[in-house]
Amino acid sequence: MSRILIIEDEVTIAELERDYLELSDFEVTIENTGDGGLDRALKEEFDLIILDLMLPGVDGFEICKQIRQIKNTPIIMVSAKKEDIDKIRGLGIGADDYITKPFSPSELVARVKAHLARYKRLVGSGAEHKNEWIEIRGIKIDKTARRVYVNGEEKNFTTKEFDLLTFLAENPNRVFTKDELFREIWDMDSIGDIATVTVHIKKIREKIEVDTANPQYIETIWGVGYRFKV
Ligand code: CA
Repeated sequence: MSRILIIEDEVTIAELERDYLELSDFEVTIENTGDGGLDRALKEEFDLIILDLMLPGVDGFEICKQIRQIKNTPIIMVSAKKEDIDKIRGLGIGADDYITKPFSPSELVARVKAHLARYKRLVGSGAEHKNEWIEIRGIKIDKTARRVYVNGEEKNFTTKEFDLLTFLAENPNRVFTKDELFREIWDMDSIGDIATVTVHIKKIREKIEVDTANPQYIETIWGVGYRFKV
């Protein structure tokens, strides 16, 4: 039986959601505060979390961010304001779906089922277990979701920036020449040259380094190339 956590301060809404989910044979736990919900979400194993955005204390936005740092549990975010949904969607904090209140309970149940099925396929394929996280000091790379967190804050990376950072982080303390990096990350027939590597390293540093003039992660080895320092 799938376990679902509902974090929702409006008791009647939480209970309505629970009743419908229980009719579909889900096991449902309700937390009415942000702090209580976050605590349970981090300590216990749930198959899916339904998370209200506006909560007393720690809000849904922060809860989502913190869960995502350590777990890939599907999260459906709920808000009364469509503008808020648009805003948080743009921030890319890692929720899997967003629903605006009021919604029909059957729609919620349908979405819950869809996300559970999707997540199980992902786990079943082994993608969830295969070396999915790289963690080096303040940097966490979620290879499955292709997301990067710097000191807990998600940063947006382009595809190539992500590939380059991940490649360097997976091969720490090894020096790679720009040529090697270009061949590794870009297709042979792609337009560009080794200067592309320099540009991408610069952009990555702007996202991960506190002081780009004095990089703590990706070092320049003059006359040779770059290495990721651990
Ligand atoms: Ca609320």
